Amino acid sequence: MDKPIDYIIVGLGLAGLAFAEELEAQGKTYMVFEDNSQTSSQVAGGMYNPVILKRFTPVWNAQEQLEVAIPFYGFLEKKLSGLFDEQLPIYRTFKSFEEQNNWFIAADKPVLQEYMDPELAEVEAKHVISPFKAGRLKHTGRIRVKELLNAYRDKLASKNLLRLEQFRYERIITWEDHLEYGEVKAGRIVFCEGNGIKKNPFFNNLPLTGTKGELITIHAPDLELNYVVKSAVFIMPLGDDKYKVGATFNWKDKTNLPTTEGRAELEKKLKTVINCEYRVVGHEAGVRPTTGDRRPLIGVHPDNERFAVLNGLGTRGVMIAPLMAKKLYQFIENGRPLEKEIDIRRFKSKH
Ligand SMILES: Cc1cc2nc3c(=O)[nH]c(=O)nc-3n(C[C@H](O)[C@H](O)[C@H](O)COP(=O)(O)OP(=O)(O)OC[C@H]3O[C@@H](n4cnc5c(N)ncnc54)[C@H](O)[C@@H]3O)c2cc1C
Repeated sequence: MDKPIDYIIVGLGLAGLAFAEELEAQGKTYMVFEDNSQTSSQVAGGMYNPVILKRFTPVWNAQEQLEVAIPFYGFLEKKLSGLFDEQLPIYRTFKSFEEQNNWFIAADKPVLQEYMDPELAEVEAKHVISPFKAGRLKHTGRIRVKELLNAYRDKLASKNLLRLEQFRYERIITWEDHLEYGEVKAGRIVFCEGNGIKKNPFFNNLPLTGTKGELITIHAPDLELNYVVKSAVFIMPLGDDKYKVGATFNWKDKTNLPTTEGRAELEKKLKTVINCEYRVVGHEAGVRPTTGDRRPLIGVHPDNERFAVLNGLGTRGVMIAPLMAKKLYQFIENGRPLEKEIDIRRFKSKH
C-alpha cells in the first residue's frame, strides 16, 4: 500500500495557502483541492492595516499578526519570484474637527503610536475631497492576493499537488490510522473552505455568518493617487490609472454575484470622495468568512481528530491567515493549546 500523505487541504484561499506553506516549512506532504466555488480571497482588496478606521482602535492582536504576515509574504515573493506586497500608506480622511481630535487622542496612545502619524496630513491628489484633511497610517499596504494565489496554484500544479475539483465530503473513509479520499490516503484533512463551510457536514454547525462584499475597479486618469484613501469608501491604486473602490457589506445575500445595487451604492459613495471623471471597468463580489464574535474558527473536530478547520478569517484574512495557520499546525502536531477565543471549542454547546 502507498504511504499516506500527511494532509489533504480543502480550499486554496488565503487560509489554505497559509496552511500549505506551513506544511512546506515543516517538511510535511500534502494535496490541495480547490473548486473555485468561493471568491473572497480572489476579489479581496488585500489591504493590511493594524488600526480599525471607524473607531481608531487597534486591530485585535495586530502586532503579532503583522510580525508573522510581513515576513511570510516576503518569503513568498522570493519563492515565487513575484511582487505581492505593496507597502502603501493609507490616508483616512476626516469628516469633522471632532474626528481630527479623536485621531490625535488615539495617535497618542502607546499601542497606536507606531501606526498612526500624529500630524494632520494633506491629501495631495487634487480630486480627492478632504476639507478636514486626513490622518496617515504607517506599516500598511496591500497584498496582491489574486496574483499570489494564481502563482501559488501554478506552483502546486507543477508539483502535482493540486486538484481543481470539488471536494465531496461523503467520499471520505476514515480508518484507524489514516483516511482515504478516492485513491488519496492521508493522515488528516484541514478544511479551509471560507463560506463554503456551510456545505461541510463536519463543521457546518460552527457559527460562520458570512458577509458579502462588492468592489468596483475604476479607470480615472485625472485622479493621480499613489496611496490608499479611506473615506466613505476606500480607493486603492492598482497602476495604469486604475483603482479598486470598495467595499459593501451585505449580511443577507450569500452569493458571489456582483449586483446593480452594490455598484450603485459604491458609486454614490465614491462621488462624495472624488470629483473627477471615471469609468467603471470591473466589478467583483465575494463572501467574507465572518463570525459573530469576530474571531477565527480554529481547531479539530471533537469526534474525529483527523478533521481540522481553519476558517473565520473575517474581513482581515491577509494579516491573520499566516499566524492562524501556524497556531493550528502547532496545536495538531505538538499539542500546543489554542487560545480560547480562536478555538472552536468555545462553541462546544452548539457543536
Ligand atoms: C469585497 C471584499 C474585500 C476584502 N478586502 C480585504 C482586504 O482589503 N484585506 C483583507 O485582509 N481581507 C479582505 N477581505 C477578506 C478576505 O478576503 C478573507 O478574510 C479571506 O479571503 C478568507 O480566506 P479563506 O481562505 O478563509 O476563504 P476563501 O477565500 O473563501 O477560500 C476558500 C476556498 O475554498 C474553496 N472551496 C470551498 N469549498 C470547497 C470544496 N468543497 N472543494 C474544493 N474547494 C472548496 C473555495 O473555492 C475557495 O477558493 C475582503 C473580502 C471581500 C469579499
